[in-house]
Amino acid sequence: MNIILLAPPAAGKGTQASLLTKKYGFKHISTGELLRKSLEANDAVSLEIKETMQAGKLVSDAIILQLIEKEFLVAEQGIILDGFPRNKTQALKYAELLTSLGQEIDYVFYLAVPKEVAMERIFGRRTCPSCGKIYNSRALENKEKCMDCNTALVKREDDTEETFDLRYETYIKETSPLIAFYQEQGLLYEIDASLSTEEVFASIEKVLSKESE
Ligand code: AMP
Repeated sequence: MNIILLAPPAAGKGTQASLLTKKYGFKHISTGELLRKSLEANDAVSLEIKETMQAGKLVSDAIILQLIEKEFLVAEQGIILDGFPRNKTQALKYAELLTSLGQEIDYVFYLAVPKEVAMERIFGRRTCPSCGKIYNSRALENKEKCMDCNTALVKREDDTEETFDLRYETYIKETSPLIAFYQEQGLLYEIDASLSTEEVFASIEKVLSKESE
């Protein structure tokens, strides 16, 4: 099973991917998370990646595709992609990769949310730098430690108003054309992601259960 979550920044891709992983045992691949982990290397490449992320732009396709291929080599179960593909080149390369593995995309969930709602969400968002778990302001309840691994939570460096605007612009220009791209292939399912986490998850589950009947 191959699932893609397509959405503007801070629409809840990571949260929904984690819920799907928990329930169905999919492998969750977040390119943003892989990139954030790669920054620990603190070398010339990671500095360049950091600058690109801070500027709200896309990291080079070559780096991203290398990360994805590496993850696919060790993935045996279903895969849920969170943050990839993010432009047409990546989408075409991903299609090639799947064809070479004799696989195909099963669902593309487009999490639709107005810009203002997404923006509001990033201000309350905290993440665990160790396990990647995401907390929204409602779930935080004044706890600043990860409930799973007890690590102190952090605010993502690119979760500022200024970087959000740049990330959103990049999304509109580079990523949003993928909505029509996957719609034309009959793979797109639009989900109203302005609802609560639970309601969004229920909408996704409804599609998954209907299709497997
Ligand atoms: P995310 O965690 O998905 O919000 O991604 C954070 C940042 O990582 C993005 O703003 C990009 O700079 C970079 N990034 C994540 N995924 C990709 C991708 N598939 N292609 C290029 N850059 C990416």
